[in-house]
Amino acid sequence: MKRGELVYEGKAKKVFRTDDENLFMVSYKDDATAFNGAKKGTIRGKGLVNNRITNHLMQVLESKGIPTHFVEQLSDTDTLVKKVLIIPLEVIVRNIAAGSLASRLGLPEGTRLNRTVLEYCYKNDELGDPLVNDYHILAINLATQEDLGVIADYALKINDILRDYLEGAGIRLIDFKLEFGKLPSGAIVLADEISPDTCRFWDTRTGEKLDKDRFRRDLGGVETAYGEVLKRLLGPDTTH
Ligand code: ADP
Ligand code: UDP
Repeated sequence: MKRGELVYEGKAKKVFRTDDENLFMVSYKDDATAFNGAKKGTIRGKGLVNNRITNHLMQVLESKGIPTHFVEQLSDTDTLVKKVLIIPLEVIVRNIAAGSLASRLGLPEGTRLNRTVLEYCYKNDELGDPLVNDYHILAINLATQEDLGVIADYALKINDILRDYLEGAGIRLIDFKLEFGKLPSGAIVLADEISPDTCRFWDTRTGEKLDKDRFRRDLGGVETAYGEVLKRLLGPDTTH
């Protein structure tokens, strides 16, 4: 598979065309940003960790009936994916109050939520990814009612699958962000990534943070935490 022209360079990944018009290659970077790009840094080895964790979790989800964009891991940092038209929503699933929800509702971080909370943000960097609800989404054509039904259904199923799976690795799934896209057939599939950059992972036993909050909040031990998640999910021989 030949790498073609760069289509897009984002904050965490580059996206390239390939010699198959239906496939893209994503290349994971070590660059890290937070607070809508205001904080910048590098997390050594992050590209490798996020590439491998994403691909592993996407395969777990596929095996449980969730369609994803994953095709084939090409190298430590590069993966072949189905090219999709991204639905411009960040779909956020929350099991426990943390981050922006905790501040917005005045809840101490770690408060258990009585039910899973689903939120949507409009994927728009200039606007700072504002929170939107179903009415906004339909009013400005970000997705159709039918798309939203499918997305919500997948997001809740993904939560059930990942929560159980991660619990088995001693990791509590606090909240996470998903992106979905459309294939030329119109089918909706899970796209983008599922990694310590896009999820909050807390050690089940100690409550220690094993995710990007270590970078956002200058807690130190960022690389070690990312490596720990990789090790717990894929085994001890995967970090080099
Ligand atoms: P950002 O755009 O937020 O800086 P990234 O650096 O992760 O994020 O860039 C990756 C971009 O690729 C994102 O805009 C994401 O929506 C997009 N993307 C992810 N998977 C696919 C796919 N299968 N097809 C097309 N675009 C994708
Ligand atoms: N998230 C993400 N990308 C974003 C915003 C949020 O991956 O642009 C993830 C984040 O890592 C967390 C969840 O979505 O797991 C909820 O994030 P929150 O709304 O609490 O925002 P934050 O505290 O990250 O500003």
